[in-house]
Amino acid sequence: MQRITVLGATGSIGVSTLDVVARHPDRYAVYALSAHSRVDELAAQCIQFRPARAVVGSAAAADRLASLLRAAGVSTEVAWGEQALCAIASAPEVDSVMAAIVGAAGLAPTLAAARAGKKVLLANKEALVMSGQLFMDAVHASGAVLLPIDSEHNAIFQSMPQFGGKMPEVRHAPAGVAKILLTASGGPFLTRDVATLDAVTPEQACKHPNWSMGRKISVDSATMMNKGLEVIEAHWLFGAPAEQIEVVIHPQSVIHSMVSYVDGSVLAQLGNPDMRTPIAHALAYPERIESGVAQLDLTQIATLQFHQPDFDRFPCLALAFEALRAGGTAPALLNAANEVAVQAFLDRKIGFRQIDRVIGQVVDQLPHGDAHSIEAVLAQDAAARAAADACIAGLAR
Ligand code: NAD
Ligand code: MG
Repeated sequence: MQRITVLGATGSIGVSTLDVVARHPDRYAVYALSAHSRVDELAAQCIQFRPARAVVGSAAAADRLASLLRAAGVSTEVAWGEQALCAIASAPEVDSVMAAIVGAAGLAPTLAAARAGKKVLLANKEALVMSGQLFMDAVHASGAVLLPIDSEHNAIFQSMPQFGGKMPEVRHAPAGVAKILLTASGGPFLTRDVATLDAVTPEQACKHPNWSMGRKISVDSATMMNKGLEVIEAHWLFGAPAEQIEVVIHPQSVIHSMVSYVDGSVLAQLGNPDMRTPIAHALAYPERIESGVAQLDLTQIATLQFHQPDFDRFPCLALAFEALRAGGTAPALLNAANEVAVQAFLDRKIGFRQIDRVIGQVVDQLPHGDAHSIEAVLAQDAAARAAADACIAGLAR
């Protein structure tokens, strides 16, 4: 029996995780669940899965959750705040941690799980983008098992069987790898007239053609910052330098990514675009379990297309490659400025094309430091948020 903590249980990844877990009550038990503010949804999950502990974002939310659970006769212990998140991620009772909080808020608990040597199922790419070297060092020092949930990275992992289940310790991809080919759908604005992009609404930006996801990552997909963050994520997970990672637009999202080898072989992982596949893969690794995802019907799909990304249409992708090449805390600055700019766009304070302007200005304006400690990374994160707020106040319509 694997005992699991799901960080971000009420989100898109959290709900898909619990869907897979519920299909295999003989294999998985839920130890703890967390949510930020959606108390009613979390209460329903606690009633269904009976975790020992649940964590929310505020004292008021904790009070409400505790009273809902008392009324339902559920004895889950309720706590709130970052320390409590770190505690449920590192508790000795836990085998596996699904890291599915969105954004920098997930860094501390995800790192706590890595330091405690857990099996870490990593969806929270922002945590790795911010603190790549520190995070990978923590994984290697504790002997944690790191399994990627992001569909592209999960596909790459499946296409690198020579890993033997361990992420590489050195900064080179495994021998024989020529390139990592990261596929991207191109999001909802792949073919829209660029001149009309500034007029798009948050609703249009969140309407992804292939995937159903949380709002922040949906906007990231529309700007292609999501792919940029994934390039940085691939660098840390697979030890590949920027030159070895290529983004390929593939609008059907059937091939989730590929690895090209020096002998001319290309290995790929295919499937319907449903996150329950990578989640089930990582939960059961190295076994295979049923996920609820329909089998892929290739004759129904019939055509797969590929082309190069247009960096003028998607300047965020170029900004992410630049941050990866700059190294140090540049990715942390990029990530923090992006989180603030995306929230401002969702709040209708800035237009869609101003997202990349805010990020570009913040990354140019602030000095890049060394990412040698979490304190240094968090200081840069805070500085980038303040600079992005100031930039947005200047731009606000
Ligand atoms: P979501 O917005 O649907 O859910 C986010 C979860 O995090 C919720 O449970 C929420 O309660 C919690 N949360 C939000 N702010 C918090 C805070 N300040 N402190 C603590 N908890 C907080 O997001 P999602 O789409 O499920 O994405 C989660 C993560 O997985 C992101 O890092 C995203 O990039 C990554 N990811 C998602 C998908 C997908 O298909 N949704 C695919 C690949 C990777
Ligand atoms: Mg992805």
